[in-house]
Amino acid sequence: MLCISVEEFLFWKKKQLSKGGDQQSLAVLIDCVGGITTRDLNLIGFNPRGNLYLKKNLEFLESLWDDHLQKSCPIQYLCGITFWRELKLKVSNKVLIPRPETELIVDIVSNIYPNNLEKLFFAELGTGSGAISIALALGYPLSVGVATDIDQDALEIATNNYINSSKQSNLKFYCGNWWSPLESFKGKFDLAISNPPYIPRDTYEKLPKEVKDFEPKIALFGGEDGLRHIREIIQKAPLFLKEKGWIVLENHFDQSEKVKQLLIKNKFTSTEIVKDLSGIGRFTIGRYK
Ligand code: GLN
Repeated sequence: MLCISVEEFLFWKKKQLSKGGDQQSLAVLIDCVGGITTRDLNLIGFNPRGNLYLKKNLEFLESLWDDHLQKSCPIQYLCGITFWRELKLKVSNKVLIPRPETELIVDIVSNIYPNNLEKLFFAELGTGSGAISIALALGYPLSVGVATDIDQDALEIATNNYINSSKQSNLKFYCGNWWSPLESFKGKFDLAISNPPYIPRDTYEKLPKEVKDFEPKIALFGGEDGLRHIREIIQKAPLFLKEKGWIVLENHFDQSEKVKQLLIKNKFTSTEIVKDLSGIGRFTIGRYK
């Protein structure tokens, strides 16, 4: 631990922000690499003459911040950590950085199943860092989940994140494409969730540098119209869901109506478009028969 005066630290912080970037990203760096939480920082105000203890020196933190500003590399990849709901998750460029809007998927599930002692059997397809499944496995301790991902490196990160977040063992990870590793669970799921790659080609080409140059294309690109993977997931869902089982999908801002029609075509009922906090129809849900 390195001892540094609050005064020196605040001066350093101001200097970093004057170079560019936003408060939130700097806070992630200071917390994850420096070891000083936002709560610690808020308390500093009460004792400006005190000292702070850093895990890494300011030169090192500054070199990461400069990398972030100069190369547009997301701060979460540079720190190897992100915060999502109540979780602190490891991330690398093998997984998408879980987005704040995706946090709502967990709330949608809690609206469907308000009793947290529900014994659900759920599947998440394309788990990435494991964020959604881990939050559900923690929120429904008597439930059992399985999460798939096509990328073995992503699954290693997800497994690690689960072990670091939970003392339970109610979540298992399987390597493979969408439903394919789950053949032995046909007709058994109460719930399926997915935030699959859904960005259409035109949009993908125009994504901001910090997304396109750093985040995995395999986790973002959804084919020509963006719906390639959503289509496959929905078409096979009736084989895997129980009768009355739910599906909850995230989609691009303008895809909800099409996703709803795909669900109806595949015999789903109670279909609904759920808006995110910006009022965008970001999620589509339905019940199998
Ligand atoms: N919401 C993500 C983005 O805007 C895309 C996630 C996805 O394709 N599933 O970059």
